[in-house]
Amino acid sequence: MTQLNRRRVARFIDDFRVEPGRRVRLPKDFNPAEITRSGTKSEAKAILEQGVERLAEYQARLAAQDDYGVLVILQAMDAAGKDGTIRHVMSGVNPQGVEVSSFKVPSSEDLDHDYLWRYQRRLPQRGHIGIFNRSYYEEVLVVRVHPQILAGQKIPRKLKDRGIWGRRFREINDWEHYLTDQGYRIVKLFLNVSKDEQKARFLSRIDEPDRNWKFSAADVRERRFWDDYQKAFSEVLSNTSTPWAPWYVIPADVKPFARVAAAAVILDALMQIDPKFPTMSDDAKAALLTAKEELLGGPVAVDGGGAAAEPDAAATGRKGRKRKKR
Ligand code: AMP
Ligand code: MG
Repeated sequence: MTQLNRRRVARFIDDFRVEPGRRVRLPKDFNPAEITRSGTKSEAKAILEQGVERLAEYQARLAAQDDYGVLVILQAMDAAGKDGTIRHVMSGVNPQGVEVSSFKVPSSEDLDHDYLWRYQRRLPQRGHIGIFNRSYYEEVLVVRVHPQILAGQKIPRKLKDRGIWGRRFREINDWEHYLTDQGYRIVKLFLNVSKDEQKARFLSRIDEPDRNWKFSAADVRERRFWDDYQKAFSEVLSNTSTPWAPWYVIPADVKPFARVAAAAVILDALMQIDPKFPTMSDDAKAALLTAKEELLGGPVAVDGGGAAAEPDAAATGRKGRKRKKR
């Protein structure tokens, strides 16, 4: 089995990327049913076999290096497979280094603040991966499709003019730029499901008793606005794919392929960061040896039995060595 390297992953995800400045028109510009393309078959197979494991490995290093953070944004129409994608890409990683935040209808406390407030509060800490299941992009998607939502927001009336969407795109781009400058990698995934496939998935939620709980009549009502959403998503992809935070359009009609593709984009971001386990200083290495000898009951390298008398000395390596100088 050939090792998965950065070049192969980058090659596989290249066509999903929305080039900054490109005008996107859905549904015609991206094929939701795509499952392969010539030239990247072996990459897809390697990512399927090794992707989750490599993600876990990189996540451990990200946590150990503890300076960069990763924010994964998932946006999609209903039933596109956001939950399954999250389960898949996170299946191997240490749960202590990952936080998933799902954003629903804003609370009245949320509405008492600027629109980015509630998302700012859920940003991952450095060393962590944060996954946003829906995000501030809803503020230029569902809010744009349903003007009555904007009407209900507590923004001053004269600021609710037609220019609001252009301003929001700029604000989002600026905020993501700021976060990038702070050491956050922002990975934006649009799971692109077709209207027919969404219908098939809704029907299976109705027909299969084990899936009934997933069904929501509200989702079917929202489907009436399909074309408006396609337009709103096209605007988002055209205006907020930036060099620092590009969008990736993931073909989502075939679930296994969507999961591989999503994992690949996240893996690519981690490979770019290329976090490393910190190397130990000579002092810290000496302290490890001292601790080991103490544990094994052998001679303690630090003179005067300092390590035994002061357990901290072995742990930090500082006190023990200082004492030696005296
Ligand atoms: P779900 O993720 O399917 O549980 O649904 C969450 C619901 O919250 C969806 O109908 C979203 O459209 C809605 N929602 C999420 N974010 C916002 C927002 N910022 N403003 C209004 N509705 C939102
Ligand atoms: Mg829903």
